[in-house]
Amino acid sequence: MKRCGPVFTIFFLFAALSGVFAKHKITDLKPTVLLISLDGFRYDYTERYTPPTISRLAKDGVRARWMIPSFPTKTFPNHYTIATGLYPAHHGIVENNVYDFGEIFTMSKRKEVENPRWWWGEPIWVTAEKQGQIAASYFFVGTETMIEGEAPTHWRTYNGRVPNIMRVDKILSYLDQPVDKRPTMLSMYFSTTDDVGHEFGPDAEETKYAVWEVDGYIQRLMEGLKIRGIDRQVNIIIVADHGMAAVDQRNAVVMDDYFDTTDKKLADPIITTGEIWQIFPKPGKEDEIVRSLAPIKHATCWRKADIPARFHYNEGRRIAPVVCSSDEGWFMTSRERYETQKKLDDFGQTRGAHGYDNRVQSMQATFIAHGAAFKRGYVAEPFPNVDVYNIMCKILGLTPATNDGDLDRVKAIFSK
Ligand code: AMP
Ligand code: ZN
Ligand code: ZN
Repeated sequence: MKRCGPVFTIFFLFAALSGVFAKHKITDLKPTVLLISLDGFRYDYTERYTPPTISRLAKDGVRARWMIPSFPTKTFPNHYTIATGLYPAHHGIVENNVYDFGEIFTMSKRKEVENPRWWWGEPIWVTAEKQGQIAASYFFVGTETMIEGEAPTHWRTYNGRVPNIMRVDKILSYLDQPVDKRPTMLSMYFSTTDDVGHEFGPDAEETKYAVWEVDGYIQRLMEGLKIRGIDRQVNIIIVADHGMAAVDQRNAVVMDDYFDTTDKKLADPIITTGEIWQIFPKPGKEDEIVRSLAPIKHATCWRKADIPARFHYNEGRRIAPVVCSSDEGWFMTSRERYETQKKLDDFGQTRGAHGYDNRVQSMQATFIAHGAAFKRGYVAEPFPNVDVYNIMCKILGLTPATNDGDLDRVKAIFSK
């Protein structure tokens, strides 16, 4: 008797669960886009860690040498830029945490994530639904709210514990619907490479395994599409929101060395991540804070008006009056928080972070595209992630909403 190889066995073991096997071949597929976000999948992970399926898609389709993320190089702003073609200052999700209406939006506040008031611009699924197409998402930043009165026909409340292979099977099952119900704009999301990249850093063997784990999900997806006879037609666009840099936990910029970060009479709120500080000075205190921060090392602080134009980050009420951005591999913290961190058992361990200047090489993201609309074996020069929205509109035959992208910059990737 012929023995099954281990990969083969695992595939059929999980295949038995549901999803992968189609009842019918699909012979009436309309132009379809499947946007797959691999969080924190740095531009060089494919060449460096050689995941088999993703490497094959890159080789047979289009890959960009890298895709340039928007500033700040964080998850929420960049996903929503990919979806809308707008810079964060224009779509309103200016950081993972946003201050407006006297409230702070964070990704863990479900009520706010689902509140339309935060989300400006028009994401691709709204463009599709407004123009009579059907959109479906198994997790994507922004799909959990109504925008311009529209949401994808199928969407899910984000829960990172939903097994990744289930996400794949559900996307396949959306495609199994009859043509009048079948979505043409699908999106999905995996956090694995970001989660592991933060914990161990981009250079760790653990991160290589995370890359291969995610490759397994893409392999399952491609098998499912092949069984349905549509693996060459569906336009798969694999994107990352940003890259990942190695961080030594001793590389702290202690902000209290420059001003009293606990003094609410000076600034309130101060919204902090290691890589970005959004400082809202109290009336009359801005000059004092800016002056105190002038000698800062391993970070740069700007008044809003002085933020370099290349960041497209100085318009609108949501950009803080003072913004600080740490250098690659460094993080900003308060003295109190740093003292606690130093006592942790794993203090010596290298970690990963992102959020820095979008010109830093380690922040660059993956773009791989494969399917009927794309050239085969083409390597594109780097382009900014505001261009992805127009790429998707073109494939789907949609009239794009106003956006910051430029289709001319990416026209070479199309097969015709
Ligand atoms: P970051 O802090 O920028 O590294 O964000 C990455 C995290 O974003 C992931 O680990 C997810 O837990 C989270 N995330 C991604 N999509 C969503 C969503 N739609 N709603 C809430 N959290 C999300
Ligand atoms: Zn991310
Ligand atoms: Zn992250």
